[in-house]
Amino acid sequence: MKIDYQNRGFSYYPTKYNVRCSYKNGEWGKLRISTSKNVTLHIAACVLHYAQEAFEGLKAFRGKDGKARIFRIDENAKRLQRSCEGIRMPKVPVDLFNNAVIKAVKLNEKDIPPYESGASLYIRPVIFGSTPMIGVRPADEYELIVFVSAVGPYFKGGFTTASPFMLSRKFDRAAPCGTGSIKIGANYAMGLAAGQEAHERGLSQAFYLDAKEKTYIEECGAANFFAIKGNTYITPNSSSVLPSITNASLAEIAEKCLGMKVEKRRILLDELAEFDEAGACGTAAVISPISEIVDIDTDKHYVFSKDAKPGAKCKNLYEYLRGIQYGEIEDKFGWNTII
Ligand SMILES: *Cc1c(COP(=O)(O)O)cnc(C)c1O
Repeated sequence: MKIDYQNRGFSYYPTKYNVRCSYKNGEWGKLRISTSKNVTLHIAACVLHYAQEAFEGLKAFRGKDGKARIFRIDENAKRLQRSCEGIRMPKVPVDLFNNAVIKAVKLNEKDIPPYESGASLYIRPVIFGSTPMIGVRPADEYELIVFVSAVGPYFKGGFTTASPFMLSRKFDRAAPCGTGSIKIGANYAMGLAAGQEAHERGLSQAFYLDAKEKTYIEECGAANFFAIKGNTYITPNSSSVLPSITNASLAEIAEKCLGMKVEKRRILLDELAEFDEAGACGTAAVISPISEIVDIDTDKHYVFSKDAKPGAKCKNLYEYLRGIQYGEIEDKFGWNTII
């Protein structure tokens, strides 16, 4: 049966295997291979009540040469460690993380979408506290699970269609735990109301201002924000923006490969009016061009693309990043792990 990858969205599509590892008595056990799609949890499990959970998202790509490449796996391993530290879970050792991810990809090798299908293999590591408890404290036992799903674009149309975003002062997300923003499910739960309101208004995603002053740009629901002004790549500097590996990669490409200037700094809301192009970026979103940001509190529209087409600089960045991920452009930064 031929799989229609072209029309896949960003959803869960089952694959046969997942990889698991338990933490008990102060240490990590051996990796286990599972074909079950379920976990059994105690009704008092820490994660169900106190949301002690963190996750990661990375991708494997099938290149023109047939080889599979995982993009910047070490960066995801390190970020998961910061998330673990932030909500007091045992850190997953980098080697353990890498082995689990590589094993999950290899076991499901046949599910890595073909080159030029527009799809890729999304890898989702998740860790949670499983100890039964009622008192609020960190769990003693944890489960790490890595599963994969062959996915299409996060936003409809992928890179080719710019979409409108919603901005409102009504919404905040969870606090960043003192250690900088971390990738935890609790933050996403806090963003569901904003995301739903955006969809009800026909806008594709909610866009956040800083929670304290509501004057600076932060990021989108599940992706970082960047803008282009002339030949400069501009992205917010804030401790409550999730440090996107895609954003860091694009900034490096902009500066070192495309001869652009890069500014990572606080960005005033009013500056939106001065930008030539804007995009949301992340592993799932890659680059999703933003057509406009609609301030629903003031009814002001910041327009970046009148015809819903991506801008020229966004296109250069997108093509360079994809080129490295698919093995078409020399990986001079050493970002790919070839499987
Ligand atoms: C994961 C995530 C991103 C994107 O990060 P990447 O490392 O590029 O995938 C951006 N914002 C939030 C809130 C995220 O959780």
